Amino acid sequence: MEQVLTSGDLARATGETVRTVRFYEEQGLLPPVTVSEGGHRRYDRAALEQLQFILDFRELGLSIPDIRALLAMREGCRTAVDFRKLLADRLPAHVVRVRSRIEKLKRLESELRQALASVTEEEHSDPASVPCPCSVAAERGAPRIVRVLARTGECGGLHAGPRPEAAHGRHPMADGASRSHA
Ligand SMILES: [Zn+2]
Repeated sequence: MEQVLTSGDLARATGETVRTVRFYEEQGLLPPVTVSEGGHRRYDRAALEQLQFILDFRELGLSIPDIRALLAMREGCRTAVDFRKLLADRLPAHVVRVRSRIEKLKRLESELRQALASVTEEEHSDPASVPCPCSVAAERGAPRIVRVLARTGECGGLHAGPRPEAAHGRHPMADGASRSHA
């Protein structure tokens, strides 16, 4: 017998909220198998797979209309051969999209590790003085993530002091610009 799943079951199985499941149902991306007289949606295992598919492609950055178009891909395919050809034609773009996302995430991971290393591996300031947190932004070699976070306090970065980069005649952007190509 086919397992009957509620919106709550789908939410639990995917780690999403019932509200999110209802949103995709209302968008027409997740049609329920049945709707009870009380308005309760009932789904099957195929719907759970479809929801997981939707969530994966949302994470990949596809819009609702993009996903709607993706789910409608089979329309107009009269034979299995047509359908295979269409998949072979369309899927490579999504592989490229995933690869690009992976590269961006790798770069962010690397930046986060640099930021962490910069604040844990060295003692930069004199413990006797009590400099404002924003001074961390001006430390030589401060990674971009640390610079941005150090400047966002209420002082607006006023106490950062002279920038070591400027003292050496380097453009303050040079460091961040070269890193973004790394
Ligand atoms: Zn400050």
